[in-house]
Amino acid sequence: MSSTPVADRSAKESATDVHVPDEELAALVKRQLELIGENPGREGLVKTPARVAASLKWLTRGYDLEVSDVVGDAIFEEQHDNMIMVRDIELYSMCEHHMLPFFGKAHVAYIPNGRIIGLSKLPRVVDVFARRLQVQERMTEQVAQALTDILQPRGVGVVIEAYHLCMMMRGVQKQNSKTITSAVSGVFRDDYKTRDEFLRLAHYNGG
Ligand code: ZN
Repeated sequence: MSSTPVADRSAKESATDVHVPDEELAALVKRQLELIGENPGREGLVKTPARVAASLKWLTRGYDLEVSDVVGDAIFEEQHDNMIMVRDIELYSMCEHHMLPFFGKAHVAYIPNGRIIGLSKLPRVVDVFARRLQVQERMTEQVAQALTDILQPRGVGVVIEAYHLCMMMRGVQKQNSKTITSAVSGVFRDDYKTRDEFLRLAHYNGG
């Protein structure tokens, strides 16, 4: 099963990709090429169906991941009453309406309630949800909810700002419109000072 390599995948990609290029998916991509008027037999396209299938599976690998898988045992007992934020977490996802990429940054913050999470895990939690077909609004909620579930903190705040290729290269063709979504819970929702601090930190630098 694990030995159907696509010629030009790098060793690094292969090592992290548990999926095999799916022949059925590749066949659909080949058909897609035909339907847009291409010749899948021409030299430049011969390997494209297998590449696209492998790429799509990698870009949607979040379906096979649980938050607990990526967090592991990186939860620590710690008394810390102040806000913890990791900002500018790069994210790449695909919109479920057009299957086109959207990309941008996530700013994730929480105020602990006796438990903290290893900082490097926050980007991984974002990726669990980004690597699927998504709408930005739901992804934002999912990241906030996941942190609430695993940390039971005093509150969580997530802001995601992203550019959607479906807006930029088709439809309204707006190149500079950034979509910003937020999800807050606990003290981030109930205490305006906390929410203010969060939003100020999230937008420091102006994004
Ligand atoms: Zn879209």
